[in-house]
Formats: sequence, structure tokens, C-alpha cells
Amino acid sequence: MEDFLKDLPKKANQKHQENKKFLAKLKKKPPKNLDYLMADLHEKEFRQTDCLTCANCCKTTGPLFTNADIERIAKKLRLKPTQFIDAYLRLDEDNDYVLQNVPCVFLGTDNYCSIYDVRPKACREYPHTDRKKFHQINNLTLKNVAICPAAYNIVEAMKQSLPKK
Ligand code: SF4
Ligand code: SF4
Repeated sequence: MEDFLKDLPKKANQKHQENKKFLAKLKKKPPKNLDYLMADLHEKEFRQTDCLTCANCCKTTGPLFTNADIERIAKKLRLKPTQFIDAYLRLDEDNDYVLQNVPCVFLGTDNYCSIYDVRPKACREYPHTDRKKFHQINNLTLKNVAICPAAYNIVEAMKQSLPKK
């Protein structure tokens, strides 16, 4: 995994134009069974990719925190939401709450998340490869293939599975 992660930004960069073109085509004409196909590819990939050997998303990006996330996590940590925000979050350029720093402060050295049960929705859903209407998040997917080995592999598998035109 370590070698894969080291090479991933370069590999994703090399595939960027190809992926961009492929995803744009997909958006224009998504196949009827896309949701099923994505669920299948996602499940197959995560049968072989163990997030505990990776944690690259928690180390290099970090989620957006919704109000519901903030309330839930603050409660778990026995803090008031405002205390939680002051201690851990900042507003980004889009006015969304994000972590003050990465790697995420809740990530352990063993790659376990210390707030796993109450983690942000965005963490639960990352890398979004099993969401419905996957073709609607192309820009995000293009970013995620440079961060997440599973997302990279899933997009590669999609290119193999879907008709070329
Ligand atoms: S979701 Fe992707 S980047 Fe995050 S730990 Fe799993 S494989 Fe790694
Ligand atoms: S809250 Fe947990 S899952 Fe989310 S980025 Fe932090 S360590 Fe990772």
C-alpha cells in the first residue's frame, strides 16, 4: 500500500485527461444500470482494499462538517458545539467547516478513527463510489483518484466495464 500511495498522485496525473474525458462522456450519457454497476465495482474493490492500511483520506484531506456532524461529535466529546468548533474546526473559502489541520486529529497512529461511530457523514461516504448518480460528481472524483487508491482502481475498472462509446 505504501508504494501505491507514493505513486498515486503521479499515476492519477498521468490518467487525468483520459479520466476527465471518460467521466464527461459518462455524464452526458449515463448507462441505465450505472448505480448497480457502481455498487458492484465498489464492493469488489473494498473486498481487497483495507482502509486501515491506508487512511490517506484522513491524512491528506479531511471532511466537511455539517451542523448535524458538529452536534453529534461535540455531544460524544462532551463539548458544546461552539467549544468543538473552536478547538478543531475552521471555515474554509466556501464557508464550510473543515478541520484546522491534517492529518485529522481523530486519526490514531494505528489508522483507527477515535470518533468512528459518530464520524462526519462525508467520512462515512468517502470516496463516494457507491453513491447513486455517480456521474454527477465528476470534479470530486477526479480529485479523489489522486488521494484514494480505491477510487483510482474503481475508475480504472469502470473504463474496462463500460462500453467505449
Ligand atoms: S477511503 Fe480510500 S483513501 Fe480513505 S482509507 Fe480507504 S482506500 Fe484509503
Ligand atoms: S473523523 Fe475519522 S474518518 Fe473522518 S477524517 Fe478524521 S479520522 Fe478519518
